[in-house]
Amino acid sequence: MDTKKLKVNGKRLQATLEEMARIGATSGGGVHRLALSDEDKNARDLFLRWLREIHLEIIIDEMGNIFGKRTGKNEQSPPVLSGSHIDSQPKGGRFDGILGVMGALEALRTLHENRLETQRPVMIVDWTNEEGTRFSPAMMGSGAWAGKLDRDLAYGRTDIHGKKFGEELQRIGYRGEHPARRWPIHAYYELHIEQGPILEKEGKIIGVPQGIVGIYWFDIYVEGKANQVGPTPMGGRNDALCAAAEMILKVNELPDRMGGNIVATVGEIHNFPNSRNIIPGRVHYTVDIRSWDDELAIQAWEDLQKDFGRIAERRGCPVRSEKTWSVGHTAFDERLAKRVRKTAEELGYSIHPMVSGAGHDAVYLNQVAPTAMIFVPSMGGRSHVEVENSRWEDCEAGANVLLQCLLQSASEV
Ligand SMILES: [Zn+2]
Repeated sequence: MDTKKLKVNGKRLQATLEEMARIGATSGGGVHRLALSDEDKNARDLFLRWLREIHLEIIIDEMGNIFGKRTGKNEQSPPVLSGSHIDSQPKGGRFDGILGVMGALEALRTLHENRLETQRPVMIVDWTNEEGTRFSPAMMGSGAWAGKLDRDLAYGRTDIHGKKFGEELQRIGYRGEHPARRWPIHAYYELHIEQGPILEKEGKIIGVPQGIVGIYWFDIYVEGKANQVGPTPMGGRNDALCAAAEMILKVNELPDRMGGNIVATVGEIHNFPNSRNIIPGRVHYTVDIRSWDDELAIQAWEDLQKDFGRIAERRGCPVRSEKTWSVGHTAFDERLAKRVRKTAEELGYSIHPMVSGAGHDAVYLNQVAPTAMIFVPSMGGRSHVEVENSRWEDCEAGANVLLQCLLQSASEV
């Protein structure tokens, strides 16, 4: 059989995604399927049923990562792996994560019904708690598996109700026996929605990310002087919120000023005491800077600190900055990325080279195995919201690229 002609079943992929979207469905058309919730459990149960239907060998590890293995002619050689995550953001979308898992499932179903035997085993995976919303940090399952995050540290993380990750994993019945420790992987592919507007704007079907941008997180603390708003004249106030407001605008103007490919965002702010008749005495806010160019990101941060210092001095509100977390840009395996591009072109899909502005499980996989991603367009560039949407034919296109990439990697001796 000419495996190059093999295609996934787009209608089946759509039906599968629609069935999954019913688990945790929200009134606004999205899904609410937080990690280790009852919805996550129900989605996992259904996923397992589908894995059994095509006779995959199931492995559940101590982190609750679910693997399904399809045997190859050469059982001893490292497998080709593909997947993503089943969990969602609170009131999130129907495509983020789940497309990568169901796309890989569709590829495996296609191999199964064609009774195709590959050289290497092909595996599918659902990584636990990618979103990091209920339990931080994000990408916990893949991080622990890749040896970059301690298992017991993960078990001890609590949600806002004080429930522990380890106990919730146990409660939903997915605390597996298998050690969450990486084994050799020949290649890892992750199909995912773009979560941005670029592919749609360019009118392209398949995005080929060369990697993921560097991400830099900071926490900023501004000290002012709290006082009664009425009796205190405007002159001589030390209003921490006004100082923060000026600083935040500097963050927003920064990318334009740097003239490069960089984004900077203040997404979280805490004002104290947050009362309408008290001059704000203290403000804490966060800064997120992302760029493929790590030098540029670091330069931007240094420039920002100078601006912050000037504003703080003028307003008499001392500022303190902490670097909370950072990860330099991640370049994917060039050979695999080229394969994604070439495969998409051979299938007749338009392609667009790009970088990913969001983190994915592929970040951790990339540190331990050759890794590449396949992006499909997000309608309106919206993601992590209920209206998140992608065209079914684009999902099908992405799954076809994935299928062919898996076949090529699995045939390598
Ligand atoms: Zn995702």
